[in-house]
Amino acid sequence: MHRTRVSRFAALGVAGATAVAGLGVALPSASADDAGRYSTKTPTSRGFGGAVTSVDPEASRVGLQVLKNGGNAVDAAVATAAALGVTEPYSSGLGGGGYFVYYDAKTKKVHTIDGRETAPASMPRDAFIDKSTGKPYNFTPELVTSGVSVGVPGTPATWAKALREWGTYRLAGALAPAEKLARRGFVVDKTFHQQTLDNQTRFEAYTSTPRLFLPGGTAPRTGSVFRNTALANTYRALGRKGVSWFYRGPIAREIAHNVQSPPKSSTTALPVPAGHLTRRDLAGYRALFRTPTYAKYRGYGVWGMGGSSSGGTTVGEALNIMEQFPLRRLSSTQQLHVYLEASALAFADRAKYLGDPAFVKIPRATLLSDRYAASRACSISLTTAMPKPTTAGDVRKYDPTCGGTSSTGTTARRDTENVETTNLTVTDKRGNVVEYTLTIEQTGGSGLLLPGRGFLLNNELTDFSAVYDAADPNRIQPGKRPRSSISPTLVLRDGKPVVALGSPGGSTIITTVLQMITDRIDRQLSLPQTIADPRGSQRNTAAVSAEPEFIEKYGAGLQALGHPLTPAGDKFTSASEIGAATAVAFKRHGYLVAVSEPRRRGGGSALVVRPSR
Ligand code: GLU
Repeated sequence: MHRTRVSRFAALGVAGATAVAGLGVALPSASADDAGRYSTKTPTSRGFGGAVTSVDPEASRVGLQVLKNGGNAVDAAVATAAALGVTEPYSSGLGGGGYFVYYDAKTKKVHTIDGRETAPASMPRDAFIDKSTGKPYNFTPELVTSGVSVGVPGTPATWAKALREWGTYRLAGALAPAEKLARRGFVVDKTFHQQTLDNQTRFEAYTSTPRLFLPGGTAPRTGSVFRNTALANTYRALGRKGVSWFYRGPIAREIAHNVQSPPKSSTTALPVPAGHLTRRDLAGYRALFRTPTYAKYRGYGVWGMGGSSSGGTTVGEALNIMEQFPLRRLSSTQQLHVYLEASALAFADRAKYLGDPAFVKIPRATLLSDRYAASRACSISLTTAMPKPTTAGDVRKYDPTCGGTSSTGTTARRDTENVETTNLTVTDKRGNVVEYTLTIEQTGGSGLLLPGRGFLLNNELTDFSAVYDAADPNRIQPGKRPRSSISPTLVLRDGKPVVALGSPGGSTIITTVLQMITDRIDRQLSLPQTIADPRGSQRNTAAVSAEPEFIEKYGAGLQALGHPLTPAGDKFTSASEIGAATAVAFKRHGYLVAVSEPRRRGGGSALVVRPSR
């Protein structure tokens, strides 16, 4: 088997194929699949002893090997995330941030790390206003392709903190498989090829980025091998020298320099506004422990990510609203109707109340209380959709008996979040669980490749509202973390994991997680059905944004209730998908069902340590 793999590699002309035997990580399986990857994609796996699921077969395989080598869920999660930085460099990597949720089987406690990117200390409130016009920059490609959108990356600090706190590997050990993957290369599939094409103009705005991602002036061919030696060297140095090398050493210096003076190409028509990050901003960065959010839903405990992400609070509030209705007794159209309405209400509150807790007082206890949910549910009729955008509730004055009004003014703001990012779920033989969503914001982030280092810098600061409004909890403020929608979620019963799940997709992350939870608990779909189910997303906008299959399957019934539906996607990407999620279900006697996408984003890979037949 081993020899077959090596010779297959050699047959495809991969340099260093003979050195493959010494890698110490599992090599890809024998043949490239239809999409051109070596590793076979396995959307669902069942079995025992631990599981890893991600959108990428190479990354899942790396994580699985760490588990097989005796590493725990945290070790495997960091190794998988580092591998995703190689194979999904437009969705995640050292230049970005994310949120890490960890369930400790021994103590039965949920812990979370906020590794969100942070604004520079000198970020002006009008950072996103074009001085030449006095108006905000057009969002994409103009604003996102910039130094001004780059926040201090949180991912390296998150990995180091998680390993230090709960891991058994050192950083170097957790990064080693990804380093080898970057050196050896991976086979370009259609998704990577298309994402590169979608970003061509943005990448060409810089002198550094095309050298790696547009070799010969265009996207790497599907089926070709893509190597990133610079990233391999960066992982090696980071492992050896530790995170201070990143935050206080040469990388900090280089990030500050390139953000303040982006390596702009002389031929680009894009403005590429410069940013404000300094070495001091990088030196001051900390990944933070946060108190997880908690909501009780039909006997299950739903744990999620608190501020600076809006994910856990918004998911929890919407679930509490949905709990006011006997969903199991309703038709599937009515079930979806309640889900969409609850989501719109929770998004109205998200816009009014949620932001970085270091800057905003978040009324979390109220937003997650059943009484407040009961008051919000008063606006839902089972026969007619409410007009949208709807208004936020008043957390100081509300009536759970539906006696009076409890809303404030409309606070809907333009939603500019993109549909990418990446997510992984890992569990080990002891029952520890990691749910981790990481991102560089847009597909391709700021488009700025740190010269010679092999990773892209994020554009996460564009998750702030573009126009300053003193009443907006997500307004730009120096040193602040922009509000996220990332929602890594653990569903427990009696303190034990039932399902762990998460998704990419900007603000649709919240609705994807919600829809999956209601699909599983209320509609009683199996986990593989839940992940495959077509998605619709109502984020307090006039129309429900939906996948074409959702419109086909549920559109007529929902339209009859007054929900306009519009196809998901935007003019800048070819994707009309919502959320390439991952999840693991925990059954009796340690039996695991690990799922990844069967279809979205080219399909993912879910693997278990000991498969059952
Ligand atoms: N910026 C988004 C957030 O943190 C994630 C990016 C995405 O999923 O596209 O909520």
